[in-house]
Amino acid sequence: MNGQRFKPHHLSIVVGVSFAVVTVASGIAGAALAFHDDSEESRLVFANIPDALQVAFYTVIPILLVIGAFQFANRMKNWERGKPDNRATTSKNVKRRLRDFNAGVYMQTLLREPAAGIMHSLIYFSFLILLGVTTTLEVDHQLPESAKFLHGGVYKGFAAVGDIAGLMLVVGVVWAIVRRYGPRRMRPYRIRIKSKPEHAIILGTFLLIALTGFAAEMFRLALQGRPSFEKWSIIGYPLSGLVDGSSNLAGWHQAMWVAHVLTFCAFLIILPTTMLRHMFTAPLNMYLKNKTRPKGAMKPMPNLMETSLETFGASTIEDFTWKQLLDTDSCTMCGRCTSVCPAHATGKPLDPREIVLKVGEVMAATGSPKVSPPIGTDPEITIAANWLFDRVTPEEIWSCTTCRACDEICPVNIEILDKILDMRRYLSLMESNFPTQLGSAYRGMENSGNPWGISQTERADWANDLEGIEIIDGTHPLEAEYLYWVGCAGSFDDKNKKVTRAMAKLLQRAKVSFAILGPAENCTGDSARRSGNEYIFQMLAMQNIETLGGMGVKKIITQCPHCFNTLANEYPQLGGNYEVVHHSQFLEWLISEGKLDMSGAKLEERVVYHDSCYLGRHNDVYMAPRKVIGSLAGIEIVEAPKNGTNGMCCGAGGARMWMEESIGKKVNDERSEQLVATGASRIATACPFCYIMIDDGVKAQGLEEGQVRVADITMHLLEALENADAVTNVPTV
Ligand code: SF4
Ligand code: SF4
Repeated sequence: MNGQRFKPHHLSIVVGVSFAVVTVASGIAGAALAFHDDSEESRLVFANIPDALQVAFYTVIPILLVIGAFQFANRMKNWERGKPDNRATTSKNVKRRLRDFNAGVYMQTLLREPAAGIMHSLIYFSFLILLGVTTTLEVDHQLPESAKFLHGGVYKGFAAVGDIAGLMLVVGVVWAIVRRYGPRRMRPYRIRIKSKPEHAIILGTFLLIALTGFAAEMFRLALQGRPSFEKWSIIGYPLSGLVDGSSNLAGWHQAMWVAHVLTFCAFLIILPTTMLRHMFTAPLNMYLKNKTRPKGAMKPMPNLMETSLETFGASTIEDFTWKQLLDTDSCTMCGRCTSVCPAHATGKPLDPREIVLKVGEVMAATGSPKVSPPIGTDPEITIAANWLFDRVTPEEIWSCTTCRACDEICPVNIEILDKILDMRRYLSLMESNFPTQLGSAYRGMENSGNPWGISQTERADWANDLEGIEIIDGTHPLEAEYLYWVGCAGSFDDKNKKVTRAMAKLLQRAKVSFAILGPAENCTGDSARRSGNEYIFQMLAMQNIETLGGMGVKKIITQCPHCFNTLANEYPQLGGNYEVVHHSQFLEWLISEGKLDMSGAKLEERVVYHDSCYLGRHNDVYMAPRKVIGSLAGIEIVEAPKNGTNGMCCGAGGARMWMEESIGKKVNDERSEQLVATGASRIATACPFCYIMIDDGVKAQGLEEGQVRVADITMHLLEALENADAVTNVPTV
C-alpha cells in the first residue's frame, strides 16, 4: 500500500496533465463556439491559419506538456531517494519562506551582481509576460462576444505590452549571448570555464521564439493592411512597413507562425531535460531555504557510542537528504560559488559548482529511470555505480576551508558545504581517509584535550603573571557572572596568548565578573567535527557539556569564532544550551554601555578588518568587530574589496589549520596581499586562526618590521587604552 500513496512526483504529472486537458478543451471550445469580436480594433485569433494547423497546434502542445510532466516527475523521483529533512511550512516560518521565495522569483539574490541580475531578469520576466499575453489572448478568444475585453484601448495596451516584452527578451538574450560567447573581456571567468552546447541551445531557442514572434506579427500586420490602431504594436508595426506590399504575405505569415510555434515546442522539450528546469526548481529551492538548525551548525548525528547505524556520512545518493538532491536540479550553473571559493582561487582541486554537478550526475545516472545529467557532460564520463567518489575526489573534499562563501553567494540557496561535510564524514569515519597531518591534531585532541597536544596543565599559564584571574577547577559551581572560554589557541599559541591577556585585562578594566576553567577546559571539537571525525567531536563535547552543566554555566564569552559557533550552535544538539557571546560583541556592548572607559583611547592608524568566516558568514556577526575598532579616536577604517559576506577566508577553517597546503598558492598569502593592498598600517582580526594565518601571510610578503601590524581587535583596543593611561599619568612638573 505504501508504494501506492501519493508521492511528490505525482504532483508533476497531475499539473502537466491538467494543463494539457485545459489546452485541448480550449482548442475544442474555440472551434465549436467560434465567438467573434466584432470590434474593429481587436485581433482575430488564428487569422490566416488553416484549420489543419490549428488542430496540429492543439494536439502537439498538450502531448508535449504531458511528456514534459512525466520527464519532470522522473527527476522528482530522484529527490525522493533522499533521507528526510524537515522543511515543513509552519505558522512560524511561513513569512520567512515567502520572503525567500520572493527573493528567488524576483531575482533579488541575482541582483547582487547587477549586470547578471538585470540580464537574467530581462529574459525571465519578459518570458513570463509573453506567456501571460498569449494566455490572455486565448482566454479572450473563448469568451462570448459580450464578455470579450481585448478591443479598443485595452487591445492597444495589450499589443504594446506584448511588443515591449518581446523586445526585452531579445535584449536580454543578446546580452546573455555576448556574456557567454562575446569578446573574452566581456565573459566572466565563471562563465568562460563552463559553457556547454546546452547553453547555446537554450539561448538560441529563446532568441528564435522572440524573432519568429516578431516576424509572424510583421507579416500579419502587413497582410491586414497595417491598420492604424496596430501602431501600438511598437515593434511589429514599423517592421510591417518593411514588407508591406510584398507578394505572398499570407504564405510568409503562415510560415513564421509555424516557426514560432515550433520554437515554443522546442522550449517545452528542453524545459525538463536541460538546466532550464531551474525555472521551476530554483524558486522552490529558495522557498525551502529556512531550516531548523542555525546556519553555522553541521547536521546532527546520533550518539556514535550508542547508535546501531553501520554507515555514516555520504558515499551514495541515498545518504543525502531530499533537499540536498533537489539542490542539484536547482543549480543554474552560474558559477558564483566558483568565483568566491578561496580554494579554487588559489589553485586547489576544488570547485563548489562541480561538487553540486557531480553529485547531480551520479543521481541522474543511477535514477530509475535514468534522467539527463544536470548539464551535458563530456562523453568520456561514465558513471558505473551509485558511488559519489566515482566522480568526487577526496582531494576536492579536503581542499575546502568550510568558509561558506559558496552557500552565501548562491542565488538559489544551494547548500554546497553540507554536501562536502557529509562526504568528509564518510571518508573520515568509514575509511579513515584523511590527510595524514590531521592524525597528530586528532591524537592531541584525544590524549591532551587540545590539537596542539600540549599538556592541559599548561592551559592557564598565560595568566601566571596577571593578577585577579579566577581559575575554577570545573567541580564547583560558577560564581562569576561569565565563564571566559579561552579556547586552545588562546591557551597554547604564543601569538594568541597575547589576545587572551588583552581580553582579560579589558574585562578587568570593565569590572566584568568572570572566571576561566584553565586545565578543566577541553577543545570544543570544532576541527574534529569539520574534518568529519564525529567520534572525537562527541567525546570532547560531552566532556565539556558535563563540566559546564555541573558548574551551572549560563553565560560564556569566547574569543574564538570556532568555539563560539560550536558552543552556541552545535552543543545544543547534545544538550548543552548556553548564552554565548563572542568577544567582539561583548566588547561592543561594554563600550556602548559605557562600562569600558574609552576616554582618550586613540590610535592614529589606517586599519583594515579581516572578516572571520565563522563569525561572519556562519553567524552574521559583521559589525561588532568594526564598531569596536571604530570606537577608537584617530582611526581610519578601510575595507578590503572582499569584505563582509564576500570576505575571503584566511585558509584555516574546516580543520585546514592542521593540514599542509602544498597545492597552488597559499590561501593566507592571497588574503594577506589583498589586505596589505588596502594601504592599511594595521590589520585587525577577531579569530585566533585568522590572526596566525594573516600574520604569517603578511610576514611572507617580506614587509619591514612594523610596516603592517597584524593583531586581534582586543590588542589594538588595549594598546590605545594603555597609551591613554600613559598620557593621563604623565607627572606634571
Ligand atoms: S566552503 Fe569555501 S572553500 Fe569550501 S567549497 Fe565553499 S567556498 Fe570553497
Ligand atoms: S551552486 Fe549556486 S552559485 Fe554555484 S553554480 Fe549552482 S546556482 Fe550558481
